[in-house]
Amino acid sequence: MSVRTLVFSIWLATTLAAAPKAKNVILFLGDAAGLPVINAAAAYKGSPQSLFIQRMPQVGLMDTSPASAWVSDSAAGMTAIVTGQKTENGVLSQSATAIRGKKDGETLKTILEYAEQRGLSTGVISTDRVTGATPAACYAHSNSRSKAGEIFAQLLKPPYGDGVDVLVGGGKNVLADAEKAAGTDVAAGLKSRGYAVLTTVDEFKSASGRAVVLVEQSRFDVAAAVERAIETLSHNRKGYFLMVEVDAHTSNLREGLDRFLLLDRLIEQTVHAAGNNTLVIFAADHSFDTRLRAGNKGDVLVPPASASKEALASPKAPIRVLGGHTGEEVVVAAQGPGAERVRGFFPNARLFEIMLAAYGWKPDSKGR
Ligand SMILES: [Zn+2]
Repeated sequence: MSVRTLVFSIWLATTLAAAPKAKNVILFLGDAAGLPVINAAAAYKGSPQSLFIQRMPQVGLMDTSPASAWVSDSAAGMTAIVTGQKTENGVLSQSATAIRGKKDGETLKTILEYAEQRGLSTGVISTDRVTGATPAACYAHSNSRSKAGEIFAQLLKPPYGDGVDVLVGGGKNVLADAEKAAGTDVAAGLKSRGYAVLTTVDEFKSASGRAVVLVEQSRFDVAAAVERAIETLSHNRKGYFLMVEVDAHTSNLREGLDRFLLLDRLIEQTVHAAGNNTLVIFAADHSFDTRLRAGNKGDVLVPPASASKEALASPKAPIRVLGGHTGEEVVVAAQGPGAERVRGFFPNARLFEIMLAAYGWKPDSKGR
């Protein structure tokens, strides 16, 4: 070790020791909420840079490419964010040696599993189905995102701690699919593992302790679910990890932007409510082909939700939606202890390390 390296190591050790650690980490994931959507949402709201996330103190630009392709789906995108390793499209928290739907790769330990292993509480909330690629990558491992039943049944055999403590999202057919895949009564299995199995956010609000909320209607009050989840998870003195996904695909432009503005308000409320021992992160798993291309301030930029795909894709549309995921870097914004590591350009896999470092944890050495 050279003197210079030694001096650097001592500096690094003292800096890390002195830096305040995060007790809690909340990751808000806007699915397909790349920079074009942020830009369009601010214009839709009425003025440039009018969103809360645009006032968060730390910002970085994150590469979202999977292991071999250039453009990511939600499975590969989220796997990199929660495990620190890039994988192939369609694969959930398994290594890139997996072949989608055919062969397992190596199991990759997720940030949620690191938290469970250390005795923290954990939660996953999604406007998608609870078995959708983004929530599933946090708590399950599969060579295919389409194996919904098998994915959900993994809640019965968590490899670390007692598994995710609060899971809220779309739940249509989930129990039936899981029962078919596992060959057991999955609802009974969940109850024996201490979960209340519920179907509305209202029931969740009055429930105590661990809960799986399989919401039947396609929309629910995400803000109420997040508030209740934070209350529940905060009982743990060691802290918690919470992931909240809001779908921001803008194939239906108005609906997508409305959901994104809701997410932005939710992040603002959460930052104010969560306290200064909580690292709050906004990130996207990949971007989307929606562009603000024309129009004047004050114009109505966004057609009604009933607008056709053709109208949205028209060269005359002020915000043109061609649709489909795109490969440019996405914005990551952060606030709270450990947020200072969110800066510059970095790969999606590093977001995992940033969250781990905020807690003051080191990644397992296996495979590194
Ligand atoms: Zn996605």
